[in-house]
Amino acid sequence: MTNQTVVSLRGVTRRYESAAPPALDHVTVEVQAGEAVAVMGPSGSGKSTMLNLIAGVDRADSGAVEVAGEDLGRLSEAELARFRRGRIGVIFQFFHLLDDMTVRDNVLLPAQLAGGSKPAARARAAELLESLGIADKADAYPARLSGGQRQRVAVARALMNRPALLLADEPTGAVDARTGEQVVELLRELNQSGQTLVVVTHDAEVARHCATRLITLRDGRVEAGALR
Ligand code: ADP
Ligand code: MG
Repeated sequence: MTNQTVVSLRGVTRRYESAAPPALDHVTVEVQAGEAVAVMGPSGSGKSTMLNLIAGVDRADSGAVEVAGEDLGRLSEAELARFRRGRIGVIFQFFHLLDDMTVRDNVLLPAQLAGGSKPAARARAAELLESLGIADKADAYPARLSGGQRQRVAVARALMNRPALLLADEPTGAVDARTGEQVVELLRELNQSGQTLVVVTHDAEVARHCATRLITLRDGRVEAGALR
């Protein structure tokens, strides 16, 4: 592990039910700054479990989880919440936007939760909406947007606090093929401008287009593979 290591899982096991096999079974994985790692594997192989552990929304039963310089197992719940707000951006299959807030307010939300300067947050939100090509939608409500536009809002929100790590769980799973291609292209551009990225997908095309490395899970274990 170096200071360029953004994610380090060492011998991580997560077992939801004592009678069932573990969802993750002694998984060891590292992600370096600037990488775009695709996590693939059949349904039930442990992809979301791994993402949740990295995001700090779930805890390992054993092994070490270090993300962005923090040993997550040593953080209290309050410290974990602060870590998630400040260091991690997540985009979900179904966007998880708040429908009764405008696009701008959805994007501003992580900054408000983190505290800090309001003018700086508004400037950052405006810059993100501009760079994602949805500046003209700032005052619209998510229900009025297309799937691709909603996913762009979700990406802007995820990037609001300049996360060390952007996580995506099936980011193209709920949009049509053409929109999916745009989301993948966006992720690729973000990575090329330096954003470290971990993308869970069951779609090999998504992995091939936006990832620099592939991790395959099967029955909670890693089968390593190379891309490109
Ligand atoms: P994937 O995202 O690859 O489809 P998951 O990480 O969601 O896989 O699930 C891995 C395994 O853990 C599966 O067998 C799943 O049924 C089980 N599992 C996931 N979440 C829970 C939970 N909250 N409670 C019990 N079992 C779970
Ligand atoms: Mg999943």
